[in-house]
Amino acid sequence: MHGDLDFFIRSGARGRTIERSLSEKTSVKDVIEACGVPHPEVDLILVNGQPVDFGYGIVGGAAVEVYPVGKSSTQFKYKHLQVATIIKFVADGHLGRLVRNLRLLGFDVAYDPRAEDWQLLNTMEHENRALLTRDRRLLMHAVVKTGYYPRSQNADEQTVEVIRRFDLLGSVAPFMRCLRCNAQLQKVSKTEIVERLEPLTKIYYEQFQRCTGCGQIYWAGSHFSKLQKRLEQIRANFPC
Ligand SMILES: [Zn+2]
Repeated sequence: MHGDLDFFIRSGARGRTIERSLSEKTSVKDVIEACGVPHPEVDLILVNGQPVDFGYGIVGGAAVEVYPVGKSSTQFKYKHLQVATIIKFVADGHLGRLVRNLRLLGFDVAYDPRAEDWQLLNTMEHENRALLTRDRRLLMHAVVKTGYYPRSQNADEQTVEVIRRFDLLGSVAPFMRCLRCNAQLQKVSKTEIVERLEPLTKIYYEQFQRCTGCGQIYWAGSHFSKLQKRLEQIRANFPC
């Protein structure tokens, strides 16, 4: 296991070659996942030095090298198993703070904290989204093509990880998407919504945006400057 795939290996076996004996012909996907590594994290597999796909059957005496998405696999000119970029996501119910961050940056993230696993997989398949989850079993599901397991438990660090994994920095478009419902925001004139504003907001703000989905009104208030600060912190993780 190369690169940061060690993260998925039980601590006793990290940094070492893992040996497995198989009683029958087994797909390389199953062998890798039996070691704890979900297949969407795997970008390149070499069996005895030759690239193979997940369905390749191992019969015996094989040396398997497994590379994650990133520098260690792009040094090879072979076809990669994972897509490098995707801008639409579906996240499991435990990643609410990551979801808000990604929406803040303008990314389309489907999220329902009550969604069952089958619903997440359905949304992923039908809307061509990458699955974000810290549920390893779910990520190993055969229908998952593209997905990512955030290593950190901290939402800001997870955000940086996702931007890095899916090469998203060039697609960041902040304050374009509703943090609550994921729909896009649209400029709206103050006169149109003035009835709905608190007295102080009415006095101090002139520019407003309204969610095209749930109707939530946004303006550059204190919430906005907090978000802007968070955005700057996220961006500070990437050299220009
Ligand atoms: Zn909304």
